[in-house]
Amino acid sequence: MSRIIHEPARDTPVHGEYDVVVLGGGPAGIMAAATAARRGASVLLVERYGFLGGMGTAAGVSNFCGLYANVYGEQQRVVRGLTDELLERMTRFDGLNDPHMILGKVYAQAYDMSAYKLAADQLVVGSGAELLFHALACGVVLEEGRVQALLLETKSGRCAVRAKVFIDASGDADLAAWAGVGYDQGDESGHLLYPTLMFKVGNVNAEQAQDAWRTIPQLMDEAEAAGDFNFPRRGAIVRPQKHPYEWRVNVTQLANPDGSAADGTNVSSLTTGELEGRRQIVEYLEFLRARVPGFENAYVLEIATQLGIRETRRIQGAATLTEEHVLSCADFDDTIGVNGWPLEMHVAGDVEWRWPPIPESRGFNQLPLGMILPHERHGVSNVLVVGRCASMTHEGQSAARVSGSCFVMGEAAGVLSALAVKEQPDAAMPARISATQVQQQLREQGVFLGDTAP
Ligand SMILES: Cc1cc2nc3c(=O)[nH]c(=O)nc-3n(C[C@H](O)[C@H](O)[C@H](O)COP(=O)(O)OP(=O)(O)OC[C@H]3O[C@@H](n4cnc5c(N)ncnc54)[C@H](O)[C@@H]3O)c2cc1C
Repeated sequence: MSRIIHEPARDTPVHGEYDVVVLGGGPAGIMAAATAARRGASVLLVERYGFLGGMGTAAGVSNFCGLYANVYGEQQRVVRGLTDELLERMTRFDGLNDPHMILGKVYAQAYDMSAYKLAADQLVVGSGAELLFHALACGVVLEEGRVQALLLETKSGRCAVRAKVFIDASGDADLAAWAGVGYDQGDESGHLLYPTLMFKVGNVNAEQAQDAWRTIPQLMDEAEAAGDFNFPRRGAIVRPQKHPYEWRVNVTQLANPDGSAADGTNVSSLTTGELEGRRQIVEYLEFLRARVPGFENAYVLEIATQLGIRETRRIQGAATLTEEHVLSCADFDDTIGVNGWPLEMHVAGDVEWRWPPIPESRGFNQLPLGMILPHERHGVSNVLVVGRCASMTHEGQSAARVSGSCFVMGEAAGVLSALAVKEQPDAAMPARISATQVQQQLREQGVFLGDTAP
């Protein structure tokens, strides 16, 4: 029997026509949609879930990295612009922790996921952008090197949305890949960063737990040496949230049966990953309750809606961010903002970190505009790609995939797309807009481009 079904051709209703359509409501998509709308473009943001935040909410991340850099020994906020407004709104919902130090080197900032969802709704809706939730993008209509429409599957049936510029903020470069933009996956041998199913435990006795995040790695080693537990990875990240009886747990590691990382673009791999993640959660809760003071009565408060995917497709762009750029705090003439996060490689069984010289360096690299533009050899002229699927090497992506850099890329794409639509009304081609124009508008919005003191 044939393994292929030929579907009949169909007529697909057009849901709407916009200047800019953004696919994906993670940190990159939120900033792209809100910025383009504020800059006067008509915008639709399409998201498969019923809320915004991407991995930051759906995958339970609940912690912002990359907002700060260690600048010659000083902790400085280096991601600003519209991100300032998002953080202010989250603070009004009492949903933002004070920053905490990571490995003695740089600040991260934990948050409450509900506050993120609420603040992101306000930011995007308040900008004038439209939202379409519960809409799974499933293909594009491509004509003469331009995406004409994005196809969506929804509970109301299949539909299409048209736009002059499409911004792919899907994290997986879905739209760009369908349009024929070339991409890479994994390192030279195809190894992806390993995913994690995040969870939270509640009812932690904060007084007894104190700074248990320091002692947990040693307690894990002891439990393993005693033969009581066998953990999938080292480098556990177990930290208190805004309310100290609630801790987030970033410890699981999901592999395929052959040991390779679970693949966020493979539905079978995702399915086994979810099941294995929940199995590991049961075991880790047992360890916490048995071995960590303050966790005796802890319970699983929440398991993330989906597996946390760190890396899938990364497009081949006009410029590519590399390990060397991150470690040498590189500058680019077409800077759109900065990344202050180091390489954080989730490899088999462990997490490896590589840092720029700290505190001897300024601790951040600039991000080039070219990393969100597909390379011209792919012949697709009206697509931008932002967030963790932008143009980076495997190593570069392990740094600039974090929320801070995704906010930066999204804001720049919002500015660039609105400029392209305004200046080229017949056939918007973002690559033809000068970086200087984009930089000028980003500065007006308060974005730190890394070419002055933070
Ligand atoms: C386990 C884990 C822990 C992490 N820890 C941290 C941390 O502590 N701090 C930090 O800053 N970062 C952390 N990160 C990284 C960070 O969360 C992500 O890299 C970041 O969210 C990527 O943002 P993005 O906007 O590019 O994509 P995503 O956040 O992945 O958002 C993409 C959005 O697009 C939607 N989408 C995708 N495909 C489709 C489609 N076909 N149709 C419709 N919608 C679609 C998704 O539902 C999602 O909402 C972590 C990541 C993981 C997985």
